[in-house]
Amino acid sequence: VLLAAVVALWLTVKKSTCATVHAGFWVDDAVYDSQRLGISLTREEIDRVAAVARGEIALAFRGLNIAFSDSRNPSYRVRVVEELRDLRFKWQMSVPAQSRAVSGMGGQGAVSLSWMASAAAGFVPQGAGRTALLDAIGTGVGRAAVHEFAHILLPRAPIHDSIDRGSYEYDTASRREQFAGDMHWDLAWRFLQKRLAPCAPPVP
Ligand SMILES: [Zn+2]
Repeated sequence: VLLAAVVALWLTVKKSTCATVHAGFWVDDAVYDSQRLGISLTREEIDRVAAVARGEIALAFRGLNIAFSDSRNPSYRVRVVEELRDLRFKWQMSVPAQSRAVSGMGGQGAVSLSWMASAAAGFVPQGAGRTALLDAIGTGVGRAAVHEFAHILLPRAPIHDSIDRGSYEYDTASRREQFAGDMHWDLAWRFLQKRLAPCAPPVP
C-alpha cells in the first residue's frame, strides 16, 4: 500500500512537472482602429503581421511544452499594442517591448507595433515591396514577443547576458537580425528546456 501510495505520489508530481504551459498572444483591438501608426496599416495587413508573428513564436518554442493561443486569460501573455512609452522618463521615450513577471505567478508583456513598423521600414531593402515590409514587421513583432515570453517564463534568468546578435535573448531590437534571416536561442535555451520540459513518453 505504501509503495502504491509512493508511486501514485510520484505520478502526480511527474504529471504536474510536465503540464502544458498555456500562453496568450494577441493584437489589441485598439490597434485596428489606430490612425497613429508610423505607417498606416489596413486591417488585413495587421492580420498578416500577426500571422507572421505567430509563426515566429511557434518556431521559437517548437518542441517545448507550451501551447499558444489568442486567449487573454493565460498567466503568461504578450499583446501587441499601438505604442509603448517608458514611464521612467519624463520625456516621451518610445520603447519596442516590455514585460513584467512574478516568479511562479506568470507575467505579461507588450510589443509596440508602431516601433516595429518604423524600425522594419529602415531595414527592408528599398523597393522590396509591401509584402516584404509586412513580413519584416511581423518577424520583428514575433521575435520581440519571443524575447518577452522568455522574460516572463524565466524571470530570474540573466537573458540579457547574451552577446549573440542573432539570438532571441540579445537585448536590443534595433538590429537587422530582428527583422530578417534566421534567429536562434542562446543561453535561455537550457532554462526553457527545463521549464517547459515535454512529458516523458510512457514507459512500455
Ligand atoms: Zn529583455
